[in-house]
Amino acid sequence: MEYVLTGATLIDGNGGAPLENAAAHVVGERIAWVGGMADLPREALDAEQIDVSGKWLLPGLIDAHIHICYNGSESVFALLEKPRDDLVLEAVDICRRTLSHGVTTVRDVGGEQYIEMGLRRAIDRGFIEGPRMKLSGRVISMTGGHAHFIAREADGPDEMRKAAREQIKAGADLVKLMATGGTATPGQDIHASQLTVEEISAVTEVARMMGRKVAAHCHGTGGIRNCMLGGVDTIEHGTYLDEETADMMVENGAALVLTLGAGNPDLESYPLSPVQQADAERRKPMIEQGIKQIRGTIALARGKGIFLGIGTDAGGNPLAPHNFSMARELELLVDNDLTAMEAISIGTRNNAAVLDMEDDIGTVEAGKYADLLLLKSDPLVDIRNLRDIAAVVKGGKKVWG
Ligand SMILES: [Zn+2]
Repeated sequence: MEYVLTGATLIDGNGGAPLENAAAHVVGERIAWVGGMADLPREALDAEQIDVSGKWLLPGLIDAHIHICYNGSESVFALLEKPRDDLVLEAVDICRRTLSHGVTTVRDVGGEQYIEMGLRRAIDRGFIEGPRMKLSGRVISMTGGHAHFIAREADGPDEMRKAAREQIKAGADLVKLMATGGTATPGQDIHASQLTVEEISAVTEVARMMGRKVAAHCHGTGGIRNCMLGGVDTIEHGTYLDEETADMMVENGAALVLTLGAGNPDLESYPLSPVQQADAERRKPMIEQGIKQIRGTIALARGKGIFLGIGTDAGGNPLAPHNFSMARELELLVDNDLTAMEAISIGTRNNAAVLDMEDDIGTVEAGKYADLLLLKSDPLVDIRNLRDIAAVVKGGKKVWG
């Protein structure tokens, strides 16, 4: 497979000015060359030329926080009642849909019965269409902790070590901890810390020994502090970040993976089921408070220079369907005063670094996988144009459009 995409406006993910009349030479799964049409190397001239003038060429989006086994429109409790086969088949559809929405890589931070491991194998073998995957396996929570109904519950450093090793044994690329309460678990205080520094440190130690990173769900400040003392690599959500914990994150080189749609659900672009309406009603005060809080958190994180990633939390609660969720996530970054270009770079280049995949994905550059998004209209003029997709390419192959 060899071809040249010609005439597009290139937004390469690095955040620089777009390059008009650009070309990308794809050989096999990877980008061999990218630049201005006038500089097209001689060896690219013999390849098939595909005219994409009038289109915008971007790196495929990366969702750094997804739950691909859950549909995000029913309660998790209802999903857990279903036969495993039903979950698998619906997850196959979610994989295909996620890819068709321009998301070529995901980091799943909470799976179900290791279905996600099977999905990854099926995708890698070409049986089904879906994004590249980094997976955490089951989340690890304290007994009765956040999302305990899907978690591997563990208490004390020894059990935590075992729980982490079990996930890695099952094929996990990272380990996911629940360090504070969460809104998706009825009756929890999101400010309450749920793991001790000793428990967190036990997990980061064994994860590091096996070359894995540790991600931790945190809303409350105390949980973020414990995670920084325990050496966690990425804070997920991070709602109540403060000055002190922001400084700790900078010192540790930890990344903050924002999940704006999780706290600000899209209640307009699809009809709400009775289950969703009830959930929206129950969470209304938390959602309103969260939207206000996160604006300050983003400003603080940017002011301190914390490395930002972004994820959708799609599937994580009944108001998080897999419905252009990554496009919406970047729209919400723009609503929080980032430029469209900054939002795109976070959702591509930065997220690639969060996934430890920056050598392979995240920008349109020579040597990386040809994971590409072609848009019909300019996302810099209106970030919602991320939904106006002409084609999605993964590993050089057109998979949608
Ligand atoms: Zn989540």
